[in-house]
Amino acid sequence: MKSFFKLLLFLVFSLVAEARYFDTVIIDPGHGGRDKGAYWGGIRESYLNMIVANKLAYELKARGIKTVMTRYSDRTMNKASRIGIANAYPKAIVVSVHFNAHLDTSVRGVETFYYSSEGRKIADRVQKRLVKGLKVRDRGIKPRKFALLSGTRGPAVLVECGFISNSSERSKAKTRSYQSTAARVIADGLMDYRKMR
Ligand SMILES: [Zn+2]
Repeated sequence: MKSFFKLLLFLVFSLVAEARYFDTVIIDPGHGGRDKGAYWGGIRESYLNMIVANKLAYELKARGIKTVMTRYSDRTMNKASRIGIANAYPKAIVVSVHFNAHLDTSVRGVETFYYSSEGRKIADRVQKRLVKGLKVRDRGIKPRKFALLSGTRGPAVLVECGFISNSSERSKAKTRSYQSTAARVIADGLMDYRKMR
């Protein structure tokens, strides 16, 4: 009987450990091609997303994590193709990289969206790192039924790295240092999640 409980504990633990384990990160640079995303002050969101996504891939590789990008160039892609790529990898988590915009140009800060309960844990880790690393307003983590978040097999988050409609945040977002920090701290947040028990 005692060994049965041991086995049960082991199984429960393995399942929990398994849930947090990922060997690949699918990096999705939001928008692209004809779809520029937000466009403010001459800055295309799709362009910023691509830069941060590339830097994120570099940061994750340095941490020994395999990465796959949903797009490698400035091309138009629909959501189904992005989800299709993500779902080809069974032990993957998904990070979609975006910048935000609002008609009220005073709105600023970072926020992270999720759909599943595992996604929430990733969002929480990533958001904490972003706020600390970028020293920006914390808009929190939010549940959303975005196709990419609900349609992927593995847990997914969508990170909004700042508002390009806000002039001061846009000036910062254009800098290499902001872009590199964003990428580095997103990678740190993903590693925090990976170490969770
Ligand atoms: Zn976007």
